[in-house]
Amino acid sequence: MPERERDELERRKAAASSALAERTPFAYASAPESSEIVRIEDRYGLFIGGEFVEPKSGRWFGTLNPATEEVLSEVAEAGPEDVDLAVTTARAAWEESWRDLPGRERAKYMYRIARQLQERSREFAVLETIDGGKPIKESRDVDVPLAAAHFFYYAGWADKLDYAFPGRLPRPIGVAGQVIPWNFPLLMAAWKLAPALATGNTVVLKPAETTPLTALLLAEVIQEADLPPGVVNIVTGAGETGSNVVTHEAVDKVAFTGSTDVGKIIQRAVAGTGKHLTLELGGKAANIVFEDAALDQAVEGIVNGIYFNQGHVCCAGSRLFVQESVFEPVLERLKERLATLRVGDPLDKNTDVGAINSKQQLRKIEELVESGVEEGAEIYQPACDLPARGYWFRPTLFTGVAQSHRIAREEIFGPVLSVLTFRTPEEALEKANNTPYGLSAGVWTEKGSRILWMTSRLRAGVIWANTFNRFDPSSPFGGYKESGFGREGGLHGLEPYLEFEEDGRAG
Ligand code: NAD
Ligand code: MN
Repeated sequence: MPERERDELERRKAAASSALAERTPFAYASAPESSEIVRIEDRYGLFIGGEFVEPKSGRWFGTLNPATEEVLSEVAEAGPEDVDLAVTTARAAWEESWRDLPGRERAKYMYRIARQLQERSREFAVLETIDGGKPIKESRDVDVPLAAAHFFYYAGWADKLDYAFPGRLPRPIGVAGQVIPWNFPLLMAAWKLAPALATGNTVVLKPAETTPLTALLLAEVIQEADLPPGVVNIVTGAGETGSNVVTHEAVDKVAFTGSTDVGKIIQRAVAGTGKHLTLELGGKAANIVFEDAALDQAVEGIVNGIYFNQGHVCCAGSRLFVQESVFEPVLERLKERLATLRVGDPLDKNTDVGAINSKQQLRKIEELVESGVEEGAEIYQPACDLPARGYWFRPTLFTGVAQSHRIAREEIFGPVLSVLTFRTPEEALEKANNTPYGLSAGVWTEKGSRILWMTSRLRAGVIWANTFNRFDPSSPFGGYKESGFGREGGLHGLEPYLEFEEDGRAG
């Protein structure tokens, strides 16, 4: 290990253990993952036609490490001409090869990509953590394995589409324009790419501007997998680039994950164009704890539901509803648990809560938390040291929250929990459904009948029972109401990338 690297490790170890010693009776020795495994280039071009090319726009922008504010690399900003090149390249690749390739051949490439993701998983995990701020234990145990699993899963469908939709004659749509957010950069890329490729579409993908690096590493894997050039194109940039992708006339299918505001802009922009559209937007999930629930497990699930990934999760359990009779014990255990969460260096394997993804997101969280205090809710934050540089926010919970408070209505997208109470299942249901969103929900109870009663009445696309934030490539994910429409994952996730002869749209 180079000397500079070792000194840095030593410095971080010392800083982390002294911070921990102050607030916990026993301290874990810090265990930082080495960043030596990743090689970050000074500059990244656009990935078009199987190669990295300079942007015609001539513009570049920096991506930084939110835990240190250090600029990691310069990334090309795709202008309209660049997007046009990416889309026409994707179109040509579709017409010349991909569209007519047998499913079993498409699957071979996808299996290669999946295996490469597994083989290079440590590299991907470290890079994801450096570029986005999430704890290494999450990028290592959640993001990267799930991304590989998505490629494996959809590779399995590629040659079985006729069985998936018997008698319906499924056909690929054409070029998919896909825009993804910064909270699960690699995983969202996998969610978008895998079903599109399995069904025979080609792709122009735009990663989020604060987290482009793992998508660009994936481009390298795609090159190594020998995917025909142009089948996957990756263009970096911010909102304007995204807008150019989704409105390009040769894009047949648009898939977007991000904020409800941008989702609405996109929906307006593609209305009447004949483009297929799926939107996966914000959420304000209810996590509902009944008095008969196993409380210790529920507390762990609540913590996982909102503090996981700094609350940068669209399906985060950001509204906690506790039955009045168990409010005191749940709150007490929750506060105790919050005090033991380790906030800090995302590369440390012990870290529970990492850095907030960007300064802009930090400001948004701060502003909403201030509104909670001003509107009269009671705030609780454990005492913990935060690193001097970087973007950080303490795990926070609010009690005394009214349904009218902004913190109970708006998506905060940070580690902030609003706690409310209820007396009867009917009241829990009414309060939980009282939101413009409908992405996910959680129910904690020992009674199977109550789980079924609640889940059939909750207006949410995904409902977890006695657990929270669990994902699997075989189960569909998506929302109701302002959380969007269309499903990703599972058999359902194939449909948005297909046309069916019976619809009279194919051909
Ligand atoms: P955003 O919706 O602005 O960004 C998501 C993606 O869309 C990024 O790649 C961005 O470059 C792109 N984009 C922005 N404007 C666009 C446009 N007009 N046309 C096409 N693409 C466009 O989200 P954000 O500003 O990064 O975050 C704001 C809020 O959105 C967060 O605080 C959070 O509430 C929510 N959010 C939700 C999710 C989710 O998974 N549902 C993910 C990220 C953010
Ligand atoms: Mn970054």
